[in-house]
Amino acid sequence: MRNPGPRTTVSLPAFCEGRMAASPLRLGPEKLFEMPAVLGRLSRYQSTSQAFAEVLRLPKQQLRKLLYPLQEVERYLVPDGRQDLHLRIFNPSLEDIARAESVFKATERNRIDYVSSAIRKDHAPDLPRPEVCFIGRSNVGKSSLIKALFSLAPEVEVRISKTPGHTKKMNFFKVGKHFTVVDMPGYGYRAPEDFADMVETYLKERSNLRRTFLLVDSVVGIQKTDNIAIEMCEEFALPYVIVLTKIDKSSKGHLLKQVLEIQKYVNTKTQGCFPQLFAVSTVTFSGIHLLRCFIANVTGNLDLTN
Ligand code: GDP
Repeated sequence: MRNPGPRTTVSLPAFCEGRMAASPLRLGPEKLFEMPAVLGRLSRYQSTSQAFAEVLRLPKQQLRKLLYPLQEVERYLVPDGRQDLHLRIFNPSLEDIARAESVFKATERNRIDYVSSAIRKDHAPDLPRPEVCFIGRSNVGKSSLIKALFSLAPEVEVRISKTPGHTKKMNFFKVGKHFTVVDMPGYGYRAPEDFADMVETYLKERSNLRRTFLLVDSVVGIQKTDNIAIEMCEEFALPYVIVLTKIDKSSKGHLLKQVLEIQKYVNTKTQGCFPQLFAVSTVTFSGIHLLRCFIANVTGNLDLTN
């Protein structure tokens, strides 16, 4: 897999599958919020997601917070012109977000299903589609996040591996003909003994793996075991993304502190990590739509390129 090279020489566009060109037809989120008329243009997407149609009816402030959770802390960060922060590399319009919703919406023609589980990479189903996987410490909120991403396919059972007495496995879910989502066993406390073998081999050898989402609890920040997982992603030159979970549990100040610390870590200690942090809460649903959009894009389903 492509190693983007040292941070100082990284060309941002290489990372920025979703960066939007400023064009009148592709208005960024701020402009869209200011133009109620444009919401009418989204009506054709509303039919694909009733839930998103309801989201669009939220008051402006609430909508912004829900779709772009880090925009709130950005107000405190950007005034002093911090060039080291990459808060808006992936900056899709509402239309793009709406398009991504339809990818995640289960229909007759877009079946979203659990496929199978595997305890070893060579047991993994042979699925040709692009794949994304989710890793993180036990209890980081991984199952909750995958469940939230699949909320438009409520019949999908995400907690398969948590059935008491069952070995923790890699669980594969297909999202129509679009891509596969892999839920990896949690590391750290209560990690399965064969975690390293199982996960390392998968990460190293899965040829259709497009992106690894590494979840970090926003309350406690990057822990020792997260460091090990990050080092593993770096060693295998994987393109990966850090997602801060449970942001509803942090005060604005605490979240700001974590974002600054983790952003600094990403900038100085990583090469393969996408420079923009994502943040989610499965309680308030903040950041879920944006993450869906990013996933749809990195799996080649939106084509948001400059
Ligand atoms: P996993 O072990 O990583 O799959 O973590 P779970 O998804 O099972 O979540 C662990 C605990 O954190 C559960 O009690 C969840 O209800 C809780 N949790 C998960 N996501 C959130 C969140 O966004 N906000 C809050 N407040 N709690 C969360």
